[in-house]
Amino acid sequence: MKRIYLDYAATTPTDPEVIKAMQPYFFEKFGNPSSIHTFGQEAKKAIEDARETLAKFLGAKAEEIVFTAGGTEADNFAIAGAAYALEDKGRHIITTGIEHHAVTEPCKFLEKRGFKITFVGVDKYGLVDPADIKQAITDKTILISVMHANNEIGTIEPIAQIGEIAQEKEIYFHTDAVQTVGHIPVDVNALRVNLLSLSAHKFYGPKGVGALYIRKGTRLMKFLHGGDQEKGRRASTHNTSGIVGLGKAIELCQEKMPEEAEFQKKLRDKLIKEVFAKIPEVYLNGHPEIRLPNNANFSIKYIEGESILINLDMLGIAASTGSACTSTSLEPSSVLLAIGLSPEIAHGSLRVTLGRWTKEKDIDYLLGHLPGIAQKLRAMSPLYEKK
Ligand SMILES: *Cc1c(COP(=O)(O)O)cnc(C)c1O
Repeated sequence: MKRIYLDYAATTPTDPEVIKAMQPYFFEKFGNPSSIHTFGQEAKKAIEDARETLAKFLGAKAEEIVFTAGGTEADNFAIAGAAYALEDKGRHIITTGIEHHAVTEPCKFLEKRGFKITFVGVDKYGLVDPADIKQAITDKTILISVMHANNEIGTIEPIAQIGEIAQEKEIYFHTDAVQTVGHIPVDVNALRVNLLSLSAHKFYGPKGVGALYIRKGTRLMKFLHGGDQEKGRRASTHNTSGIVGLGKAIELCQEKMPEEAEFQKKLRDKLIKEVFAKIPEVYLNGHPEIRLPNNANFSIKYIEGESILINLDMLGIAASTGSACTSTSLEPSSVLLAIGLSPEIAHGSLRVTLGRWTKEKDIDYLLGHLPGIAQKLRAMSPLYEKK
């Protein structure tokens, strides 16, 4: 059966060029980068090259990059690390109601340990108002964390404006840029952040490797105590092949990003236009323009997102309802509730995310089947009958 992957926001396939770049670091160049001998030094050089590539991409300095085991670790390191480094100054953190679990869970963990967390709301498009952030600031605020773009609805947040507020008040500012790095331009100075998280598997790199950008002078408590890797900020032998893969993936994105974003946006807009034309009573979730070029998120009234996914999967189409992390629970997505959808409408959500290997015929295939699936499921829906 033909299989079509339209779930790039959950993870991406690893680019074959990335795999090729990683390969030597498993056998020929397997040395421990902390070793003095040539095996070690060639691994160390590869890591430092990747660090340089990533730093340049972000407008940062190489020494401001710490490699981690993915986006979740980078988020935890930024949030709990800043909280415990600055707790003498204050114990108040500001974040939003639409963050990824990798941000909300460390915040809730800190809340149980005496920190005060303010979860700022968003408007119907999922946009955070910088004025709301400003208003939430107290003399105890030590950290603000707002995601660059939302992983479910694709809305891109006004990070630079919030950064300006944070900078003025001298409060650390973190952004989870896991959905944007490799997809749209990300510059740590333009965004005015102290801390920025990213993850290789969201931009055609391998899973289990990411990075935290830490602006020079930003104090963080470290989590992994052991060797003095990463200038003492994170112990553990480097994931050399993973880091090399991350570097190669960034290099490819640097080159391909403008064209890819434009092509994906074109296909996405066609998808949105045709879905509206072919299916009655659908809504687009997220901002109509200020959104990731590869994201479309619909609510199809009267039916369940899970049923749509199962029907699509039987046709070989992989999409998502809400985020992959919540796909095992039947609770409606907290992001969709935060933008004001009723639980019934939130349940009928379908996220379609495009990527490097998405073809126009893939979108046409989806468009050929989705209206029929919606009609079939509505015919069986008690909600639809009562209308
Ligand atoms: C995927 C994702 C994460 C988690 O990254 P991992 O590398 O999978 O741990 C964090 N934040 C956002 C917005 C994500 O999309």
